[in-house]
Amino acid sequence: MTTPVEADAVVVGAGPAGTAFALNLAPLHRVLVLDRRAGPAVRIGESLAPAARRLLADMGLWDAFLAEGHSPCHGGRSVWGGPLPVEADSLRDLDGPGWHLDRGRFDGWLRRVAASRGAALLVPAQPLSVDRAGQGWLLEVETAGRRIPVHARLLVDAGGRGSPLAKRFGARRAVSDRLVCGWVHGIDAPGRQSGLTWIEAEPDGWWYSAPLPEGRRVVAFHTDADLPAAADARDTASLLRRLSTCSVLSDSLRACGFEADGQGEGRGGFCAAHSSSLSPASGEGWLAVGDAALGFDPLSSQGIFNALYTGLAAAEAADRHLSGDPTALSNYAAGLTPIREAYRAHLRAWYGLERRWQDRPFWSRRLSNPLSPLGRGT
Ligand SMILES: Cc1cc2nc3c(=O)[nH]c(=O)nc-3n(C[C@H](O)[C@H](O)[C@H](O)COP(=O)(O)OP(=O)(O)OC[C@H]3O[C@@H](n4cnc5c(N)ncnc54)[C@H](O)[C@@H]3O)c2cc1C
Repeated sequence: MTTPVEADAVVVGAGPAGTAFALNLAPLHRVLVLDRRAGPAVRIGESLAPAARRLLADMGLWDAFLAEGHSPCHGGRSVWGGPLPVEADSLRDLDGPGWHLDRGRFDGWLRRVAASRGAALLVPAQPLSVDRAGQGWLLEVETAGRRIPVHARLLVDAGGRGSPLAKRFGARRAVSDRLVCGWVHGIDAPGRQSGLTWIEAEPDGWWYSAPLPEGRRVVAFHTDADLPAAADARDTASLLRRLSTCSVLSDSLRACGFEADGQGEGRGGFCAAHSSSLSPASGEGWLAVGDAALGFDPLSSQGIFNALYTGLAAAEAADRHLSGDPTALSNYAAGLTPIREAYRAHLRAWYGLERRWQDRPFWSRRLSNPLSPLGRGT
């Protein structure tokens, strides 16, 4: 039998949460990161909250982040709670602007930083089996058509909303709503791009639009999966027809000379965007970080911040655990409770501001009993 590869921590998932964990722990312990994708996936096009500046500085990454050249986001325009657009800028935010990320570049950069700090990256790779072996774990990892045994003292689920490891250990995700998102990418006319993020509420959900690198733009519609409007989110032609009924956003897009991409792969997408939380978020010899632990509504713009924060907090807990502290992992998981509660309070306040369509299911659900668990889900 092949001798197992030895690691102190094996991380499944090389998104922002997994790489933040790896780059903080790798200077102290042997870290192996696996991802089933060779490179970062195509994503909708996300914004990074201004407060991420403090986290990146704590990790010694602020100057390097700036050198990556992501576009600053100086504010947003929202049509929310009334028909008139309201603009808010980040001039008075002590953390400075937020950022319109080039998500592929951001994820690829974090992978490189983790590797430069000593983490081993194995991609594409995924665990086929995971078994307890003494105080640690024995994994069979599939990579490039081969099966490699790996022995780890600690496992980290950084596999996103699917929580691929934690689910094997019996942890369950509590789902609070049925939010889904359909989006289309396109291009703005040269010299006419606006740097603002746009949000607009409508009777069955809400719209989001933001600039992307190289003059491109995303336009996204959010609604609940069980509502008829979800059919429009799934199909890009229907999504664009629906967009024309959304007056302020349509006018803004026209002013930018926005043209949606033609037919074909990469034109748009559809995905789950509900709030959810994993329970428990740690167990004997494992913990979960990022979306694998807490899935946020995109309205909050907090998902990547949370991925970075939990990656850093989990690395500190992992160091204590590997150094013999028996309470380190459970303390880490307990620290997620106030994050979840603060998130819920903020989201409730935001949805509560929009009262024009209280008779419509999308809004009445959020106003009457916001974020009560729908049940155990994915
Ligand atoms: C529609 C939408 C809009 C959003 N907008 C924003 C926004 O504006 N701002 C913001 O901050 N956040 C936003 N988010 C949230 C943000 O995308 C996530 O919070 C963030 O990507 C979480 O990072 P992560 O590392 O936890 O997970 P992910 O980025 O999902 O990374 C998980 C990684 O695990 C890998 N993986 C999964 N399963 C396996 C397996 N079995 N084996 C090996 N590898 C595996 C995947 O390939 C992937 O690379 C949005 C989300 C959605 C759905």
